[in-house]
Amino acid sequence: MRTMIDTMLPKQPYEYAMWIDGDWVTSKSSFTRESPAHDVTVGRYPMGSEADTDAAVVAARRAFDAGPWPKMSGADRSKALLRVADGIRAKKEELALIEVLESGKPISQARDEMEWSAGLWDYAAALCRHIYGDTYNTLGESMMGFMIREPIGVVAMITPWNFPFLIISQKLPFALAAGCTCVVKPSELTPGTTLRLGQLIEAAGIPKGVVNIVSGYGNPVGARLASHSDVDMISFTGSTAVGRSVVEASRSNLKKVELELGGKNPQIVFADSDLDAALDAVVFGVYFNMGECCNSGSRLMVQKSIAQEFAAKVIEKAKEVVVGDPLDEATKVGAIVNQTQLDKIQGYIQTGQREGATLKLGGNRRQTERGRFFEPTVFEGVNPGMTIAKEEIFGPVLSVIPFETPDEALRIANSTAYGLSAGVWTKNIDVAFQLGRGIRAGTVWINTFMEGYPELSFGGYKESGLGRELGRFAIEEFTELKTIQVHLGPRTKWLP
Ligand code: NAD
Repeated sequence: MRTMIDTMLPKQPYEYAMWIDGDWVTSKSSFTRESPAHDVTVGRYPMGSEADTDAAVVAARRAFDAGPWPKMSGADRSKALLRVADGIRAKKEELALIEVLESGKPISQARDEMEWSAGLWDYAAALCRHIYGDTYNTLGESMMGFMIREPIGVVAMITPWNFPFLIISQKLPFALAAGCTCVVKPSELTPGTTLRLGQLIEAAGIPKGVVNIVSGYGNPVGARLASHSDVDMISFTGSTAVGRSVVEASRSNLKKVELELGGKNPQIVFADSDLDAALDAVVFGVYFNMGECCNSGSRLMVQKSIAQEFAAKVIEKAKEVVVGDPLDEATKVGAIVNQTQLDKIQGYIQTGQREGATLKLGGNRRQTERGRFFEPTVFEGVNPGMTIAKEEIFGPVLSVIPFETPDEALRIANSTAYGLSAGVWTKNIDVAFQLGRGIRAGTVWINTFMEGYPELSFGGYKESGLGRELGRFAIEEFTELKTIQVHLGPRTKWLP
């Protein structure tokens, strides 16, 4: 019997084309994607080749060198970005559905991500008119100095599968605001919404060649972009391992590299905190997006005096989390993106047990008629040296680690190779700021977790990344700084 949800599944896979130099481009070969929750094919995409990638770079290069985009007024660029934001809102339902079908994330969350993405385009539109440098009027009577910001050039963007539309919206409108031209490569697992974005770019009247979207695999498309000598900058979000290979490939022309990589983020709960608020945020922080989240609060550090009681409450709350079909409005945790990811999560469950941690909840694939789902999982008895306390699992798995003092909490928080984000829960302002300042991570939330604002920059310390996205600092990333020195009046001669 067909259920309500079955009627939402496409009868045929949606067909997509690449957007290159103002044209819709198909290719002889294609690849498909199966919905991780429904086991049906939901999309067919062109298999981008090295030649397609080169054509996209040539188009972006020409659009940058010949204009008009980089030389347009901020006001005109701003209007175009606002039209894209409007387009996203108008297509919200369609985009959210595609995102669910390809990624397995819950539909209500996917809709929020579309709204949030449109807000990023709005914010970047405002930044178009707010790109400025410095002037120095202190160099003596005969000299003036100007520092001006210019777009860095052709930017290649490579994105992962966990927040496909949100992550491209963290990059593309900001680079466009700065006056750059772009080549975008979405993940081969979730290219649909990024390819659809091409339609919104076209409808917004952004000149041809300014944005180019190439679908395909990391190799050849991503690797070619990373090594291409006509690409001036690469903005990459993905795993630390692939990020490293992007850095190596970038040596060809010493292009600028910006990286948003993995995380192993602690949520640190002190006994004096608002424990109800912390409890909700801990459960949200680790199970949101099935735990397939760079910001996942996958390490719960709890002060020893409340550790047992608090962990018991987390387990009770975790049992309330609705795991199920991501097209169901009630679902909070949808499907795991693919078998490789599921195997990886199961591998970490075995490693955790082998190294002596105690599995207190979950730890198994959920038995369902279709799709692949994983139970919310909690490990206790975890020490900071264990693999599950150090490595990014990218699944709904929480490791509980007790601590006694703020100094010890800080030591444990900083004991991984990552440094993306952290949460601190306490009512003691001294402790809050001791940790806020001491944690080596790009974002520290105090008495909240995983909030974001377009105004506030985001990025990682250590092996979590290089550079910053969002906020006015994004404009700094996508621009070069040029010094212009002007001599006024007669210049003192070198030769007599
Ligand atoms: P991934 O590194 O496997 O792939 C990311 C992208 O790189 C994909 O588009 C892929 O096709 C491409 N790619 C693969 N090989 C390449 C190569 N040799 N050269 C160039 N590009 C190549 O990552 P993923 O599995 O898609 O995403 C999960 C990872 O992303 C996690 O580690 C997660 O923490 C990280 N992530 C980080 C952030 C952040 O903002 N810090 C946000 C989301 C995800």
